Amino acid sequence: MKILKEIPEEVNKKPIDFLKWLGDTSIIKTSEEENSEVIISCLVHGMEPSGYYATHKFLKKIKHEEIRLKKPVSFIFVNVKAALKKPYFTHRFLKDQMDMNRIWVDTGEFERQNFKVFKIKEHIINEKPKLLVDFHNTSAKNPAFIVSPTNNLNTIKLASTLVKNVIQIEWLGTLAKFASNYCDSFVLECGKYNSKKSHEMAYEALEKIMIYQDVMDGKINLGTEILISKNTQKITLPDYTSFNFSKQNTGEDIVLMPGIENYNFKELKTGTIIGWENKKGTIKSDFLEVKDGMIMTTDKEFMFNMLTDNTNIIRSDVLGYTTVFQKIRF
Ligand SMILES: [Zn+2]
Repeated sequence: MKILKEIPEEVNKKPIDFLKWLGDTSIIKTSEEENSEVIISCLVHGMEPSGYYATHKFLKKIKHEEIRLKKPVSFIFVNVKAALKKPYFTHRFLKDQMDMNRIWVDTGEFERQNFKVFKIKEHIINEKPKLLVDFHNTSAKNPAFIVSPTNNLNTIKLASTLVKNVIQIEWLGTLAKFASNYCDSFVLECGKYNSKKSHEMAYEALEKIMIYQDVMDGKINLGTEILISKNTQKITLPDYTSFNFSKQNTGEDIVLMPGIENYNFKELKTGTIIGWENKKGTIKSDFLEVKDGMIMTTDKEFMFNMLTDNTNIIRSDVLGYTTVFQKIRF
């Protein structure tokens, strides 16, 4: 584990080579002089690289004095080992690890991983930052959004400069939830993990965060409107459910419309068809109903998020989430 108090020369390497040089969980503080005003974390999940690319680019610019920071900032590279497992950026975590975003309150099963978490916690507590932002990506296609453990106005204002949607959820055991005991803290989901657009979004967000926190000079405008989503409910399919994606009912237990990812974060009309249910009682949601075998939205106000067409995720975890939302205008 590397803990550095200045940006190393090696930052000039290509992103993947710099990551290899880091080799494992690392912390880089831009300067030793004062406490870190802001902490940025990335690669809590090894397959979510947008925050890493953004951080690497940002550190390089500071090193080359294209960016001047008024106060120190810390960057935490969390699960570097998982990111480096080939093919690069495809492993959420490794076999001898737990999900690195579940072990920040109760410790995990693996000693080595717990030690890294302990060192990062210690850093956060010692630095007394005003803000911690944890950069992630989604596996599904989503516009960028924020997941916040709290709904304090400062977070919402900063959020409005970055995204249109904030999901308020406690998400126990996460790094952001842990950090929220000490400072403002949230997760920035930069969009799909393998999209160049997500990486660009992450970089822009990083600069805006620094400007908002007055770590860096520059101008940003607050957003005009933001949607705060609450009461997140999971939609899961029971084990052994057969399913398919098709525009027609092909007879499996559940048939879903292709492109359901496009329904994320949209206010859908009542009766929007999501697919077909051929085995009664498979889909359970307060916001969906089945009529003549068709699964459709009810007249309740809600939004989907993180709906995915990734069969592995649907099988092992979740089809998507629903939330109710509230609009805030500035
Ligand atoms: Zn993640």
